[in-house]
Amino acid sequence: MSRSIYGGAVFEMAKQQFEQVANHLQIPKMERDRLLYPKRAIAVSCPIHRDDGRTEVFQGYRVQHHLTLGPTKGGTRFAPSVDVGEVAALAVWMSWKCALAGLPYGGAKGGITVDPYTLSPRELEALSRRYMQEMIPFVGPHTDVMAPDMGTNEQVMAWFMDTYSMYQGQTINEIVTGKPVSAGGTLGRREATGRGVAYLVGRALDHLGVKAGDATAIVQGFGNVGSVTAYSLAERGVKITGVSDHTAAYYDPAGLDVAELQRHITKRGQLAGFSSQSTIEPSDLLLRKCDVLVPAAMEQVITDQNAPKLKCRILAEGANGPTTPEADAILDRRGSEIFVLPDILCNAGGVIVSYFEWVQDLQRLFWEEAEVFDRLYRILERSFQQVIARAKHDRISHRMAAMAIGVNVVQSAKRTRGLFP
Ligand code: NAD
Repeated sequence: MSRSIYGGAVFEMAKQQFEQVANHLQIPKMERDRLLYPKRAIAVSCPIHRDDGRTEVFQGYRVQHHLTLGPTKGGTRFAPSVDVGEVAALAVWMSWKCALAGLPYGGAKGGITVDPYTLSPRELEALSRRYMQEMIPFVGPHTDVMAPDMGTNEQVMAWFMDTYSMYQGQTINEIVTGKPVSAGGTLGRREATGRGVAYLVGRALDHLGVKAGDATAIVQGFGNVGSVTAYSLAERGVKITGVSDHTAAYYDPAGLDVAELQRHITKRGQLAGFSSQSTIEPSDLLLRKCDVLVPAAMEQVITDQNAPKLKCRILAEGANGPTTPEADAILDRRGSEIFVLPDILCNAGGVIVSYFEWVQDLQRLFWEEAEVFDRLYRILERSFQQVIARAKHDRISHRMAAMAIGVNVVQSAKRTRGLFP
């Protein structure tokens, strides 16, 4: 495609990764644009009344990558960085992630360009409802199903579901996933991504012959993914030596008390103020020696600057797109020194349990929590095995292997369905 609306560093990164995998798979040039470029992009202006009486307009987006395998599925992000390129990149990654896990979805992503920490609870509700209202013509339980991402949570999903349902005149739980259980959510969804990350870290430790009880971990980001990952790793016996969020970073080689950190967050809403003794420069935290490093905040934090200096054995990508292609090349050169659990494998627990939530909502038949996690771990185990085997067979990195499996699934579905009309 000679010109498109998709640009920016994050989309360029998704494009570059796709080109690498397309070269590896020898995908003909004429098929590449059809696989990479999103089917639809929607941009909306969302006006709300601020608490001080002003009217303010926020820009919102939703990008639906492909509709070949079923409805699209993906999170909604409220962050200052959100633009159409970032959202499109996240939608593309969601497609490969869903395909790798064998889910009947294409990828989507959406968001609003806003710093959610600057909104009052009333303003957050108004903006969430207005965004969903603007999206009603373009989403649906069989078209595009939203979920939480950075800056949104269960409550925002409940407002989305309520707004959509009020317009339809009936309750449509299956329009979003990641809802509270009291609004048709599934048991286990809130913890799914973090518990999935911890499960895969456990498998990687097994692979390297390291006992969880002897391992240490550093987690960047202490939101939904980071906090649950830290908690679940600690439950498995891993010592959490470092954590950070957008307000502070802490490091203690003797180990941090994750339950205490969680209590602090619940009370204060941020990590700052937790301790005056173990404070560390956030950029230094990533470079400390540990067995497991979990970026669980945002994109492009592992770069060509810090990749040569990482001192971890396992890089477990809880966030989407945390490693730049330049950093990837460095990690490749470091070979078996660092075992990478690429994002589309590592954080897939969220969308897998979202899929379970959608299935339960459609059937009005709800599962026990044990069933949710049993099914989740079985899918993650299968994906983990597939990625390891493909990487070995093709002599490629885990990221390339994971993407190759995902891209192959979408490519083969597109070929089989053909081109309409
Ligand atoms: P969240 O909003 O709950 O948490 C984000 C965390 O990152 C917060 O603790 C925030 O303070 C922290 N953060 C922001 N800027 C930071 C900085 N500069 N340094 C350190 N920490 C910083 O979001 P989340 O849902 O946990 O999502 C985190 C990442 O995981 C995103 O990349 C998201 O796309 C990805 N992800 C989320 C899910 C999910 O189910 N929520 C699933 C898959 C992937």
